[in-house]
Amino acid sequence: MVYRAEYIWIDGQKPTAKLRSKTKIVPDADSPPVWGFDGSSTEQAPGESSDCVLNPVRVVPDPIRGGNDKLVMCEVLNTDMTPHESNTRAQAAEMAEKYASHEPLFGIEQEYTFFKDGRPHGWPAGGFPAPQGGYYCGVGADEIWGRDVVEHHTEACIAAGLNISGTNAEVMIGQWEFQIGPADGVTVSDEIWLARWLLYRIAEDYDISAHLMPKPVQGDWNGAGAHTNFSTAEMRENYDAIIAACEALGKKADYHIKQYGAGIEQRLTGLHETAPWTEYHYGVSDRGASVRIPWQVARDGKGYIEDRRPNANMDPYVVTALITDTVCSELES
Ligand code: ADP
Ligand code: MN
Ligand code: MN
Ligand code: MN
Repeated sequence: MVYRAEYIWIDGQKPTAKLRSKTKIVPDADSPPVWGFDGSSTEQAPGESSDCVLNPVRVVPDPIRGGNDKLVMCEVLNTDMTPHESNTRAQAAEMAEKYASHEPLFGIEQEYTFFKDGRPHGWPAGGFPAPQGGYYCGVGADEIWGRDVVEHHTEACIAAGLNISGTNAEVMIGQWEFQIGPADGVTVSDEIWLARWLLYRIAEDYDISAHLMPKPVQGDWNGAGAHTNFSTAEMRENYDAIIAACEALGKKADYHIKQYGAGIEQRLTGLHETAPWTEYHYGVSDRGASVRIPWQVARDGKGYIEDRRPNANMDPYVVTALITDTVCSELES
């Protein structure tokens, strides 16, 4: 007999890459093999030399098709098996390897916005919804849109064996969040991409589209971020390492901001939580800061920090590699 393997990869669109997938029928006795695709249709290759390679990096049960079917997260390689220029996972894996002795852990909060009929789900046609205030963690048909999709997505992530750690309704109408982690940076990033694919795919069946745009509605409406929680073995042991990590991130603030997702200046205006993109500061319990030290961490004198700056549309391979490099190189100096 055979099973269906859905090969999922990240394309070459700029400034924000998107997910693609296609199905391969594989004999039951085989694991998903290396495969390929037409890179000229995904901004990854010219037409006269269009072949790109799909290299499986994580195989999980397919919770949508069920049975023996699989989801296959892939990285993109050139035909000589070197990483394709769009392959940010290769650098993340290198960085994880280089600093493995610090045992970095990440937990990412992925915010997103549902759209229906060309506007945020719940937004009335030709008018305005009630101002934000009641939607965050709300309950009831006047506050909540899309919970059926969220529940379906959560069940799928659990069935796929992902490290999903929670979900909540967000501040803007039709906006939600799920969290993946804590786990090592490459695992969390692979799973963020798989969970994003599951979200798009499941919402499809409800005729709803999920978006990661950082500022879905201009004006007094919250943007969508991807708060990135981070710790090393040292930070999980003592507070000096927590402060050292916050200081290290401050020294390279501009360098990080530029790689935290397209359109970050629209989201980090300073008006809706988190410091403006032009400024850096950290603080205990401070949701107006760039980097927050959770109150339990200050109390216990150890734990993790939350980088609040990354956009919802960030590439987790890029962000986790950057944070690992910046903080671990400082801890070693
Ligand atoms: P918030 O209060 O900012 O909404 P959440 O509960 O949404 O926080 O997310 C907290 C995240 O922190 C989770 O994704 C969790 O996996 C992560 N986390 C917890 N402990 C650690 C740790 N020691 N290192 C890294 N991440 C952690
Ligand atoms: Mn959260
Ligand atoms: Mn949130
Ligand atoms: Mn947060």
